[in-house]
Formats: sequence, C-alpha cells, structure tokens
Amino acid sequence: METVAPFKEAIDEIKESGADAVKFCYQCGKCDTVCPWNKVRTFSMRKLIREATFGLTEIENEEIWRCTTCEKCQQRCPRDVKQVNNMIALRRFATGYGVFPEAVKPVRAASAGLFAEGNPFGEARSKRAEWAEGLSVKTFTEGMEILYFPGCYLSYDSRLKKVAPITVSKRFLFLPLIAITLSRMSIQNSM
Ligand code: SF4
Ligand code: SF4
Repeated sequence: METVAPFKEAIDEIKESGADAVKFCYQCGKCDTVCPWNKVRTFSMRKLIREATFGLTEIENEEIWRCTTCEKCQQRCPRDVKQVNNMIALRRFATGYGVFPEAVKPVRAASAGLFAEGNPFGEARSKRAEWAEGLSVKTFTEGMEILYFPGCYLSYDSRLKKVAPITVSKRFLFLPLIAITLSRMSIQNSM
C-alpha cells in the first residue's frame, strides 16, 4: 500500500499559524453532516482537517476559503478540533505565501482598496464627494439635522453614481416646504 510522507515544513507552519488542534480529529464526519454547505453543494471540512493533519493542504485551492466560519461544526465536534480556527490559520498561512484562488482575488483587491483609500474600488478619497458637485448640498457640520451618506457604491460605482444626486433632488422635490438641512460628508470627514 502506498504511503504519503508527511510534508513536515507545512505541518510546522500550520501549527505555528494556530491550527494545531487538527491532530485531535478522528474523522467521525459529524462536521460534514451539520455543515450548511452540504445542503447546496459538497464541502468536506473533515477532508480539509485530514489534509491539514498531514501537511497536505492545497493552499491554492478555494476550499479553504469556502467555510463561512458559522461555527456549526465546531459546536458539534466531539474532539474540540476548532475547525474555524484551523481554517483561519490555513488562510493566514496561504496569505503569507501570497496564494489566492481566482474566486478570492476580488475580495483581496477590495480589501486593499479599503485599506489604502477607504473604499473597495481603490478610488481616490478626494473623489468621494464628486457626486454632489453642482448641487446645493452643504458639507456636514455639527448641529445639522440630516446627514446623507451615500456610501462607497453610490459615490464611486460608475453604474450607481447617478443615484445619489437623484436621491438628493427628489428630496428637494417632495419636501420643498420643509426646512431640512441636507448635508453631505466632507472629503475630510470620509478619510
Ligand atoms: S467533527 Fe471533529 S472529530 Fe469529527 S471529523 Fe469533524 S473535525 Fe474530526
Ligand atoms: S464553520 Fe465552516 S465548515 Fe463548519 S459548519 Fe460552518 S461553514 Fe461548515
């Protein structure tokens, strides 16, 4: 019978990443039974745990990113394997090598944009309030009654950009007699 030699370096790195509890798994399969994913598609936490035990995790595979960390399996595990911690550790491990499956790359790009510019598109902060140009929308200051914050999509997404100005003009249209101080966040406030 063919035996697979453990990939020790990977095992050590997985342990250092906080996924040491995989060694307690005795492959009962309860995690797969309760995992909501298996109502709509096949997904085996039991298999992922087994692979991690032997340092055979395929970090380029999107399976380690599929777990939603709902913890349902963790609550039912008879060996306290802490599956969610393990998956997070494996993702950290993969991230350390800069390895991401195609499906995860947009999330990485969004998170880089949020980190750098405060929005998932990676657009300049200074453009956040461009939608209000030409409209009589004041910059928010303390004491104003209403703050309209259209969020990132309405501020940057090319298809949705027109929604914010329309929202503002409709408010003026329907409530012309009510003294409302409509304001927008200043560029400084969005930083
Ligand atoms: S429920 Fe726990 S012990 Fe059972 S297969 Fe899953 S991780 Fe292993
Ligand atoms: S934590 Fe992940 S593997 Fe466990 S039940 Fe939830 S989605 Fe499934």
